[in-house]
Amino acid sequence: MASVELNSVRKSYGALEVIHGVSMDIKDGEFVALVGPSGCGKSTLLRMIAGLEEITGGDISIGGEVVNELTPRERNIAMVFQSYALYPHMTVAENMGFNLRLAKRPKSEIEARVGEAARMLDLTALLDRKPSQLSGGQRQRVAMGRAVVRNPAVFLFDEPLSNLDAKLRVQMRSEIKTLHQRVETTSIYVTHDQIEAMTLADRVVVLNKGHIEQQGTPIELYKKPANLFVAAFIGSPA
Ligand code: ADP
Ligand code: MG
Repeated sequence: MASVELNSVRKSYGALEVIHGVSMDIKDGEFVALVGPSGCGKSTLLRMIAGLEEITGGDISIGGEVVNELTPRERNIAMVFQSYALYPHMTVAENMGFNLRLAKRPKSEIEARVGEAARMLDLTALLDRKPSQLSGGQRQRVAMGRAVVRNPAVFLFDEPLSNLDAKLRVQMRSEIKTLHQRVETTSIYVTHDQIEAMTLADRVVVLNKGHIEQQGTPIELYKKPANLFVAAFIGSPA
């Protein structure tokens, strides 16, 4: 696991600035939820941490090292999206091992790591299936498995459950929390669902229009919202 530090991070698309100097400090092993309404910049922030999007100001550090110039692969980060993006022609095992094959890891190591991740995510019996033969929840677990086998220092989740029905969403929530604890990773979890954020996270960061309104533990935010926006968004009585 690794710490993640954002120091006055900015992002502009052309002349339009969408992230206005965001700073946050995420400790080793912490589970942080990034919440806010649609269009407030959650995905953009996550993609900048992953290295999929260039930053236009400030610094991002992972494990104490500034990573502004590093490629996504060099950052040792795994990202799980809401669309699972599994390869339909590959089996579950092949999907999970794909990144390791790309990295030219030995076959024995790939099998061992895929096997271990499958046990962790209860996928052992499904390893020979194709994605079309899986339920939505199982597909999402395969997508998480594909991330786990890379043994990343940081996990980034971008609304990973928003395609699932309500019941499955609640079940997958606790699976994600268990995974975070078992893999001993640092997790940043983006969602527009405040209940998901409040139940999952050690700390919640509330984003609005490209800036942070407040960050704190779920209890702090609920009991002492910094302003009306946070109170309304979190649904606290203030
Ligand atoms: P969220 O994930 O919170 O819904 P996004 O990070 O996707 O928000 O978007 C933040 C803002 O940046 C939005 O106003 C969006 O329209 C804008 N934006 C995102 N990606 C691009 C892009 N590639 N080009 C121009 N504007 C973009
Ligand atoms: Mg988004």
